[in-house]
Amino acid sequence: MEQLLQVENLKTYFKLIDGTVKAVDGVSFSVNHGEALGIAGETGSGKSVTVKSIMRNMPSYAEITADKLTLEGIDLLKLSNKELQDIWGKKIAMIFQNPTSFINPLFTIEKQMTDVICFHEKIKKAEAVKIARNMLVLVGMPDPDAVLKSYPFQLSGGMIQRIMIALSLSCNPSLLIADEPTTALDVTIQAQIIKLLGDIKTHTSGLILITHNLAIITEICDKVAIMYAGKMMEWGGVNQVMKEPAHPYTQGLLAAIPRLSNESKKLEFIPGNIPSTVDPPKGCRFSPRCPYAKPVCTQEEPPMVEIAPSHFVACHCAGEGGCR
Ligand code: SF4
Repeated sequence: MEQLLQVENLKTYFKLIDGTVKAVDGVSFSVNHGEALGIAGETGSGKSVTVKSIMRNMPSYAEITADKLTLEGIDLLKLSNKELQDIWGKKIAMIFQNPTSFINPLFTIEKQMTDVICFHEKIKKAEAVKIARNMLVLVGMPDPDAVLKSYPFQLSGGMIQRIMIALSLSCNPSLLIADEPTTALDVTIQAQIIKLLGDIKTHTSGLILITHNLAIITEICDKVAIMYAGKMMEWGGVNQVMKEPAHPYTQGLLAAIPRLSNESKKLEFIPGNIPSTVDPPKGCRFSPRCPYAKPVCTQEEPPMVEIAPSHFVACHCAGEGGCR
């Protein structure tokens, strides 16, 4: 399959008075045309910073470097701010976790959607209104004409999130990034938005979904990447990683999922906390919490190795029959 996004050795550092925060520290992965990649990990693992770095939507004091960061062959690190603005929305679009923060309360939905569509597509307003209406229909919005004339305060959180998804699809982006798109919604609306993401993923060339919820990734995505403390721990096909997790961190995350069949058992958890990315542990960053840590783990950083076709793991036990 042809590659859509290539990320090699991506690093995003923030130089602060107390030291350098290595929020993303040498992350590599790819998304092929037609694929959906899920990125999972605890809060502070660097998931959101990774995708915002890909978009180059970061504060000016963030230092973003990579050996390769390309979307459809375009070197994203070489783009000027003006070129980036042309790419945002048109080639890469993002759905954020708190949609109400990204919508202007003072303007109607029609104005906000058509402004974006006219800016990128260079078309007349009447045509943009048609596209906006079609997009609202696509995301299952009831009464799209009334919604277009509404102000954000007249709509529910679930409706606003649908509008953000419609807006992000309105210029046919090649890559759609959804950063925890259901976190701010109640449970029934979450289920609707998850179903919607599964339905609309064919309207873009590629999807990156960030979530804490591995079940959502299993439902929607083709590939999964597990991040921890700014590093990629494991990535590969969803079936490979979910059925045969090779990294102790992935195994711990999967074991911690509550299951109805285990209701008499105590919930599993990973002891300890995610380390600081200013002064992370030497060697493997997961070593203070890993039940299989060996002396080498606290001295040498494990390389990322391919243990099966397209299944990569960063663990000293990888390729030795797994952790024991
Ligand atoms: Fe555990 Fe060592 Fe593997 Fe890290 S490298 S996950 S500490 S076994």
